Amino acid sequence: MSDASSLTPTTKIQFLAGVGPQRAERLAKLGINTLRDLLFFFPRDYEHPAAEVAIDRLKDGQAASVTGVITDAELSARSPGKSIFGAVVTNQTGSVRIVFFNQPFRADTLTFERRVMISGVPTQKGLRMEFVHPKVKVLREDESAGAGEILPVYPLTDGFKQYDMRRYTREVLEQLARETTEVMPEDLRREVVRRLREANIDPGGVDHDGPLPPIDRALWQIQFPTDDRSLIAARTRFVSQELLVMQLALAIRRRSLTTDLNAPVIDASPETHAAILDRFGFTLTDDQRRVVQEIRHDLRRQFPMNRLLQGDVGSGKTAVAFYAMMLAHASSHQSVLMAPTEVLARQHYENLRHIHADNSDHIGLLSGSLGTAQRRDILQRVADGRVTMLVGTQALLYDVKFQSLGVCIIDEQHKFGVRQRTALRGDDMDPHCLVMSATPIPRSIGMTLFGDVDMSTIRQKPPGRTEVHTYLAQDEWTQRWWQFVRQRLDEGRQVYVVAPRVGPATASAPGNESDDDADGSEDIASVETIYAQLRDDVLADYRVGLLHGRMKPDEKNATMEAFADGAIQVLVSTTVIEVGVDVPNATVMTILGANRFGLAQLHQLRGRINRGVHPGHVAVFTDGDVPPDEVERLKIFESTDDGFELAEADFRMRGPGDVLGKQQSGLPPLRVADLARDREILAVVRELAQDMIDGDPEMKDEALSDLRRQVLRRYGDRMELADGA
Ligand code: ADP
Ligand code: MG
Repeated sequence: MSDASSLTPTTKIQFLAGVGPQRAERLAKLGINTLRDLLFFFPRDYEHPAAEVAIDRLKDGQAASVTGVITDAELSARSPGKSIFGAVVTNQTGSVRIVFFNQPFRADTLTFERRVMISGVPTQKGLRMEFVHPKVKVLREDESAGAGEILPVYPLTDGFKQYDMRRYTREVLEQLARETTEVMPEDLRREVVRRLREANIDPGGVDHDGPLPPIDRALWQIQFPTDDRSLIAARTRFVSQELLVMQLALAIRRRSLTTDLNAPVIDASPETHAAILDRFGFTLTDDQRRVVQEIRHDLRRQFPMNRLLQGDVGSGKTAVAFYAMMLAHASSHQSVLMAPTEVLARQHYENLRHIHADNSDHIGLLSGSLGTAQRRDILQRVADGRVTMLVGTQALLYDVKFQSLGVCIIDEQHKFGVRQRTALRGDDMDPHCLVMSATPIPRSIGMTLFGDVDMSTIRQKPPGRTEVHTYLAQDEWTQRWWQFVRQRLDEGRQVYVVAPRVGPATASAPGNESDDDADGSEDIASVETIYAQLRDDVLADYRVGLLHGRMKPDEKNATMEAFADGAIQVLVSTTVIEVGVDVPNATVMTILGANRFGLAQLHQLRGRINRGVHPGHVAVFTDGDVPPDEVERLKIFESTDDGFELAEADFRMRGPGDVLGKQQSGLPPLRVADLARDREILAVVRELAQDMIDGDPEMKDEALSDLRRQVLRRYGDRMELADGA
């Protein structure tokens, strides 16, 4: 066991000196099973002990470190569980007392004549300075004290102290750091530094044109940094490496999508292009026009478009989608548009028919409410090519046989997830694919989650949109606000009231549309309570309706339609209205418990009320007193109407998990890099990866073979990268 020479990276952690089977079990909880795991188990933080001070210069209340020898030590137990351990530490400049209450184990390590370094804040006690509960480092005979040295702070598991982790880590480093495989050759490490500097990113302590530190030095410096600059350099190395490995995988995948798949070439003359644009009753905005050009360019190629189109609800994404569908039609190909709900599918269908008023026989709707015969008829007309534009909800469209599917559009509204597109693959041809999302994605997440996808963005709103005023409500506003709401209702406007989902899930009703409230975690009672209050009291003179995810699809549709028709004036709802029908007359929204929502989600809700000609008003109420940073967050919502700005703020303040919600990326978690903190490095590394794969698509370069192996090991399965890639 203590035969160090037999230790290898794959040696089980229990065989490390001082660990053993029991401690190994506990380390396993931290994901540490082998020596290699420990080697790459990086500190979550660092301690910077105070500088060494001569004992006769110590000042009451000022942090300092003292190195010396223990010249006296005494443990006195006062009663069970109560003890005082006191010791005296002496050097040439004097002696100090250290004290620990109820830590009798200190007596085991802080023994007579031990050399130690202590750090803490001393207080004057009589003639002597005293440190209560200082940090202590026991020094070996020849070990330098290293006051001011940076100490790693690890995530811990029960029964472990920082001291243990530091000891184990140091041991493993001494045994294995030098033998760890270097996957980044020096040239590559040098190139990363060059590009980081070009992007004005500080790589930390490296020579002017020097490389990032090699693996053994980087391991030592990230575990036991000698100084801040070296720590930054080491961290930069591991962050760059982790992100590079990921981006290489994505670059390989992007490439394979262009070489392994075939799509129909869809081209159109300028006349056709112009004729299509003519069909819209409006002029495209500059942003829409730019995206149309991007799509036009994609469709001309013989491999599938793989594009994500982002833009707020109402920014005019659907118009762009219709353009692609019409372009496919013009070159005798079919297209399909998948909507997140039945109601939206119908709305898209009606709109498509509207702009094809002259002849709309080639437009089909596959709806859940069709009878068997009607359904069979539609499928037949799709199969023989008479229907060229098919609209429906996602679930209904997967087994449809097309004659020649050229374009597939997925309208996901507020959801992520471009992965299902593969389900619609043809036999020899794959359709061009456009996914639309109303959830603005921070750039660095986009580069990760959608790293193999091209992104288009519409930020501009179509002209004539009215402004939405947002108010972060104060408590004393309640009366006044509802007064305001009643005034708007009297003027003929309609109103949304959104209540949060709270509490644990109860039994979920059968027949629930799976794309609404999929987690079933809303507390209907809370919405219902609010509904009852408004109906019976505050808004008793108006027609109030209730909508939530656990109603039957029919009921939901009926309620939404009643609201759209104006039969319902006030709709009390959970967030299901995020994916809703346009009701231009609805101009007022009250959001209750807003602190429970992400900014992006609040923004989406707000998007429901800028559909018409009347200015919108949103009041945001919180549940009781919320902490200042929550108020800060909601103030950002109050102050900007830019979805991307809000997404970035969410990302900064609540982390990627919150932005992504429950929908996971399917990519392995990052261990060192942090997408928010390291987004600039990510951008640099992404470009580097693309250049590397452009120059050497299969990473055949001998010097990169270890790096290539790491890419495959980490991402090969998940991204279906061929081993030959
Ligand atoms: P999204 O799909 O992004 O939610 P839509 O494409 O449904 O947005 O557009 C919302 C509304 O704005 C629709 O009624 C649409 O007809 C209209 N619209 C879209 N683009 C324009 C434009 N350039 N000018 C005027 N109105 C537009
Ligand atoms: Mg839409």
